[in-house]
Amino acid sequence: MKNVYSNIYSFNKKTLKKSVNSLKLGNIVSLPTETVYGLGGNAYSKTAIKKIYKIKKRPKSNPLIIHYYSFKEASNDVLLNKNFFKLYKKFCPGPITFILKKKKSSKIVSSASATLNTIAIRFPKHRVVRTILKSLNFPIAMPSANLSSGLSPVNPLDVYDEFKKKVKIIIDGGQSKIGIESTVVDLSGKPKILRPGIISPNQINKTVKIILPKRNLKIKSPGMLKRHYSPGLPVVLNQKPSNDKHAYIIFGKISDNRVNYFNLSKNADLKEAAANLYKVMRKIKKKGYKKIFVSRIPNIGPGIAINDRLRRASK
Ligand code: AMP
Ligand code: MG
Repeated sequence: MKNVYSNIYSFNKKTLKKSVNSLKLGNIVSLPTETVYGLGGNAYSKTAIKKIYKIKKRPKSNPLIIHYYSFKEASNDVLLNKNFFKLYKKFCPGPITFILKKKKSSKIVSSASATLNTIAIRFPKHRVVRTILKSLNFPIAMPSANLSSGLSPVNPLDVYDEFKKKVKIIIDGGQSKIGIESTVVDLSGKPKILRPGIISPNQINKTVKIILPKRNLKIKSPGMLKRHYSPGLPVVLNQKPSNDKHAYIIFGKISDNRVNYFNLSKNADLKEAAANLYKVMRKIKKKGYKKIFVSRIPNIGPGIAINDRLRRASK
């Protein structure tokens, strides 16, 4: 990956040092996580946070998730509670984000949390970001590495497509295994889910009682934009296209397979479908399709998160 992609680096001792130094200087680095690729910066540095919002064109009202190596480092900035420790023990490190009350003594730049008195924290599992977090004495503020309201990147080339050489360092950590963003759980009051993810509401409810939504999750949280995760093409849900000119995202075994059909999982595996969702939507866009139709996806387990992203992509 030389020449064109000269800002994409494989991960080794040298590039670890390069990334760490860059972050220490208040610069932005794109890092792989198990969910999606992120744009990381020092959460204690005003300049770094400013750079993240600017390069993503992210509205100032949309707060960032702060990434830590372990709960010990997080305890400097937020008030950890019983529910947090229960879920932490069960799911961390992993694809889950917690909203907690900010400590008065916290050093998190206030613009990183859109001046709220709560902070979103996560402990990512991917080896690369964990190694980097371990080498730093500050947490990393890191939204997904895409222009605001677009599709999250799931490999280094996606990040390159979004920002070209504007991001000086992109670390190649392979394809993101989970492929959609973390589950966001608000633990600052009565526990509730703000954004569904691969860890489902039912799984969380087994450990901490949450308010379970009856049907679709009505999300009311700062920055939870209605239109988000958009491929930049019209998306029509639960409908088959009337001709072969439009792309059709399908799920499960299907007898009549055509070139404009893109299957999220032939085995009808919702986890696999989630991992393929953004990959498939980027592929469809690259192929030049102008409209995407999507067949019905079961609204259970990871399907809840898939439907949430599709619904917002269709706005
Ligand atoms: P992203 O970085 O795009 O994966 O999105 C992170 C999401 O976490 C945002 O859309 C926010 O709505 C949510 N979030 C971050 N911080 C907070 C917070 N303090 N309170 C509520 N939601 C938050
Ligand atoms: Mg994002």
